[in-house]
Amino acid sequence: MAAGHTLGNIVIAGGGLAGATAARTLRSEGYTGAIVLLGSELHHPYLRPPLSKEYLLGREEEDKVPVVPPGWYAENDVDLRLGATVTSIGPAERTVLLSDGTALSYTSLLLATGAAPRTIPLPGSELPGVSTFRTLDDSRRLRRKLERGGKNVVMVGSGWIGMELAAAAATYGNNVTLLGLEDIPLAGAIGPDLGRFFRSLHESHGVGFRLPASAREIVGKDGAVSGVVTDSGELIPADVVVLAMGVLPNTGLALTAGVEVDNGILTDASLRTSEPGIFAAGDVANALHPFTGKHYRSEHWSNALNGGKVAAKAMLGQDATLSTIPYFYTDQFDVSMEYSGFPDLAAGTDPVIRGSLERKEFIAFWQRDSRVVAGMSVNWPHQARPGAQKVIKALISGRTPVSADRLADGSAGLDQLLPEA
Ligand SMILES: Cc1cc2nc3c(=O)[nH]c(=O)nc-3n(C[C@H](O)[C@H](O)[C@H](O)COP(=O)(O)OP(=O)(O)OC[C@H]3O[C@@H](n4cnc5c(N)ncnc54)[C@H](O)[C@@H]3O)c2cc1C
Repeated sequence: MAAGHTLGNIVIAGGGLAGATAARTLRSEGYTGAIVLLGSELHHPYLRPPLSKEYLLGREEEDKVPVVPPGWYAENDVDLRLGATVTSIGPAERTVLLSDGTALSYTSLLLATGAAPRTIPLPGSELPGVSTFRTLDDSRRLRRKLERGGKNVVMVGSGWIGMELAAAAATYGNNVTLLGLEDIPLAGAIGPDLGRFFRSLHESHGVGFRLPASAREIVGKDGAVSGVVTDSGELIPADVVVLAMGVLPNTGLALTAGVEVDNGILTDASLRTSEPGIFAAGDVANALHPFTGKHYRSEHWSNALNGGKVAAKAMLGQDATLSTIPYFYTDQFDVSMEYSGFPDLAAGTDPVIRGSLERKEFIAFWQRDSRVVAGMSVNWPHQARPGAQKVIKALISGRTPVSADRLADGSAGLDQLLPEA
């Protein structure tokens, strides 16, 4: 569709943050043609971060999770179809087929199908009380199980979601054990020292760890889960088991349609796939990042938000690229963490710390060739100006060399680190 054209028929497969944001952006950019937004779930598009935090903890209710108020779609003439699953795409005819047999034609198609929890063939994983975790329905069910406390809870997986769920379960007064394949939780993402920081945070709230350990079998009693057997043969009692072993991008539609896939749907920086008229955004997209010149698949909220915006503009023929520095956050117990940068570039380097891990108030900077490539702020005061994330992002985009001593020197203001300072 050429720039300035307002007619067309845009179909969005996937009613999550990326899909809904794309619909919203199409309208805010003045597109007046048809938009069909197709989502397999029965809920209006919603935000997932609260599901493992504020909502799960009962501090926020469901009215806080929609991406836009439910009435927005009809008010903006967006044909939102819930419970509608796309089963195949015909790139040559520019059509999609839905599970109820409906065929829709498109001028542009956005694949925003997200990701699904990774599963393994684990005996006993079908027992009541065992679940994966991704959706609002998963969070509703888990909240009901956890909120009275006193349960034995086992998390299989020590990544961000497993750690957040463990924190929520322990906050409710449950007895939580976390199993993970790494020696130190999160070490692959943020390195051993900061992984230990999160481990001791959890231990100080009573969470037990088995590391490295995997689940060999889940056992049951009276038709419900009763324990998890680890690879060392230990039986950990369990009333609730969550399998939080990461996610895999939902690439099935793209693969069968011949769209190029490699760890997600491959796109250029404007989120165009290998097939004309087909775009991809959010968790499912492995997009070329202009900063590194490499493909990067992010499983984070800001990528789905920004990707939805960029894909919408690109579908309208605008010159848009997804060039923002990747960002994500997590909240666990009394720790609020924000991270900006490129984990791949940071991997294997030791972070420089400004502040104090003991006081749980610090910034970790990762460098390559004296340039900051990632930074993580923990409980850094939000009222501080300039904000920690602003400085980290400016240092990364500026590519200016900065010494480790300057980064660590808390006696000078953060503003002194800004490239123009
Ligand atoms: C519990 C949880 C907590 C999180 N916390 C954080 C956080 O603190 N910080 C952060 O940065 N990120 C967080 N994330 C990640 C963030 O939520 C995701 O990156 C974001 O939701 C991705 O959005 P998306 O639209 O790409 O995909 P999704 O949210 O997965 O949405 C895709 C939708 O498409 C639907 N769909 C799939 N296939 C089809 C099909 N064939 N037809 C129709 N519909 C289909 C799916 O059912 C789904 O509803 C969290 C994720 C989870 C699960």
